[in-house]
Amino acid sequence: MVGDVDDTTLKLNPQTLLPLHAPHPFDHPEYRQHRQWMERAIALAQAAGDAGEVPVGAVIVDSQGRLIAEAENRRERDHDPTAHAEILALRMAGQAIGTWHLTQCTLYVTLEPCPMCAGALVLARVARLVYGADDPKAGAVRTVINLPDGACSNHHLPVVGGILESVCRQQLQSWFVQRRHLAPDKYL
Ligand SMILES: [Zn+2]
Repeated sequence: MVGDVDDTTLKLNPQTLLPLHAPHPFDHPEYRQHRQWMERAIALAQAAGDAGEVPVGAVIVDSQGRLIAEAENRRERDHDPTAHAEILALRMAGQAIGTWHLTQCTLYVTLEPCPMCAGALVLARVARLVYGADDPKAGAVRTVINLPDGACSNHHLPVVGGILESVCRQQLQSWFVQRRHLAPDKYL
């Protein structure tokens, strides 16, 4: 199941106008919470970008709203093809709570997970995924393929996409523009 909240495209249907005193959807406490954690993931992504990595950041929060893990992409620095932000955060969360069953946890990540990370989220039985920008090249939650709802998945993963989408997307785009300028052969 994929929910979607996009700051730039969300429109209220005039047939379902909210009562006068109802909070605007963007002021809903749950949405505010999503933005707050996504801002933290964006800061982690920025640190990765500054270190020469593709800027992706992830945080994991437990059911009480406590931060239990945070990580940024470290693929270049660790010489590790699996050192994506989500994988590192999942490992840290497992250590923090003493189990690989992350059934009470929400993972926030700036970019739609790739097949490896989407698979790991399913294996970890994560309660919910919240992400920022769609990944048209490798998005494995809905954009290219949908692994969590696929035949090899035995876990239902609720997904919320599009949180601070434009900020997450621009962060990645400007990083790639800068890198292509610095090393045109490496980033075609
Ligand atoms: Zn990944």
